[in-house]
Amino acid sequence: MAAEAVIIGSGPNGLAAAITLAELGHRVVVYEAESEIGGGMRSAQLTLPGFVHDVCSSVYPMAASSEFFRRLHLRKLGLDWVYPEAALAHPFDDGTAILIKGSLSDTSAQFGADAATAYSWLAPFVDRWGELTSDVLRPAHIPRHPGLLAQFGRDAVFPAASLAARKFKTEKARAVFAGIAAHSVMPLTAWGSAAFGILLWATCHAVGWPFARGGSQLIATALARYLDQLGGRIVANMRIESLEELPKDALVMCDVTPRQFLEIAGSRVSASERERLENFRYGPGAFKIDWALDRPIPWNAPECGKAGTVHLGGSLQEIAESEQAAWNKAPSSQPFVLLTQPSLFDPTRAPAGKHTAWAYCHVPHGSKTNMVEAIERQVERFAGGFRSRVLARSVMPPSELEAHNSNLIGGDISGGEASLRRLVVKSTSSNYRTSIPGVFLCSSSTPPGPGVHGLSGYFAARLAHRTYSE
Ligand SMILES: Cc1cc2nc3c(=O)[nH]c(=O)nc-3n(C[C@H](O)[C@H](O)[C@H](O)COP(=O)(O)OP(=O)(O)OC[C@H]3O[C@@H](n4cnc5c(N)ncnc54)[C@H](O)[C@@H]3O)c2cc1C
Repeated sequence: MAAEAVIIGSGPNGLAAAITLAELGHRVVVYEAESEIGGGMRSAQLTLPGFVHDVCSSVYPMAASSEFFRRLHLRKLGLDWVYPEAALAHPFDDGTAILIKGSLSDTSAQFGADAATAYSWLAPFVDRWGELTSDVLRPAHIPRHPGLLAQFGRDAVFPAASLAARKFKTEKARAVFAGIAAHSVMPLTAWGSAAFGILLWATCHAVGWPFARGGSQLIATALARYLDQLGGRIVANMRIESLEELPKDALVMCDVTPRQFLEIAGSRVSASERERLENFRYGPGAFKIDWALDRPIPWNAPECGKAGTVHLGGSLQEIAESEQAAWNKAPSSQPFVLLTQPSLFDPTRAPAGKHTAWAYCHVPHGSKTNMVEAIERQVERFAGGFRSRVLARSVMPPSELEAHNSNLIGGDISGGEASLRRLVVKSTSSNYRTSIPGVFLCSSSTPPGPGVHGLSGYFAARLAHRTYSE
């Protein structure tokens, strides 16, 4: 049984929903508000001609782990992953850096007194990554690998800061774990923030942290190409303001967050659903800078030049303070900065000899504080002379991010506040359903949550198909 299916929004989840429904035989059309498709997977010459910058996402361990992405023939569709020599570097004030690269045993050896702990703790998750993701990267279900999931959950529920202090003796190992856990956009004292540290650290060794050769837009292009082969259509420059604009009997997949959904759905949502979604909470924002550089970043620890991503925050304590500040009224004056340097590994990103870098820090929701000076000071701290290499910069505070993509409310890049409650209690597939028959939510506000993996769209679409076929 097949229907017309309309997808609102062409982010990774919108396109995954479109592809999944088209594969199941539905006639699919995707409406995208912006002129370029892709949502969080767009790249553009934000600074100078010839410099290609990832506007939102840049590094793809979640896509590389995703059941949806892994079964696509991405290379045939024109998408090549580029793997830096090291997934991640974490520099320190003494001019040294820890590199997360290659095998877990090589990486662990850098941790001195914590080498054995780092290895024995993470090895089960790295070695059985496929099994672990088959349980954690999907809505709540009866576990397929209960032993492994329990082993993960035993530590994952803890606050990252206290878990790091309990597991590791050395400041460096604690800091590295804190930096990875800070991707959660949760205070590191929050229950469940450790989950992100464990999962993302394991991805470094299990699947790597690749870039998309040529820029993140090519991921969207590859997905659109496949959708086209399946007979689906995409209409850009078409913002859907109301469900009334769409065919009555169509399946509708909404790659938008709850607040936008309420506007689009209007009076068609039930009173109880309206009340529930009005209480949906958004998280901190991001403040982002892209640089066009004359030469590579002059890292004090030169080995940072081998890493695609560099975490700039120093110690666990500093990173924890910075992440906490994003939940308070004012951002940290010494923010934890997540930086990528794609052109070192992908020469298509910049003119010969020139380079690009991408960085952001977390700030309070909707913050208007200008973070350029604070972010660049952090880069200078670990790369003296950095500023002299800047040819041009593009600056995106939360308001600019939201203007670029209306899903990024207040600059929130996670589709809603991250919390243990969202990770566990709110991770059921009922989050895809709405009170309107045939209308589903499929954005990163639904399980399994933020990141470019397409899995919210994939699982929501399968549920929509099942519901339609019943
Ligand atoms: C600065 C930044 C850095 C990030 N870094 C990473 C990273 O390195 N790796 C990673 O995995 N993830 C990263 N993310 C997160 C990632 O981009 C998101 O989790 C992901 O894009 C969410 O996908 P989505 O499909 O749910 O929504 P989105 O990608 O936000 O797409 C939603 C789409 O819907 C469209 N839309 C909205 N309303 C309407 C409407 N009414 N009508 C029509 N179209 C509409 C929007 O224009 C947009 O194109 C980052 C995000 C940001 C902002």
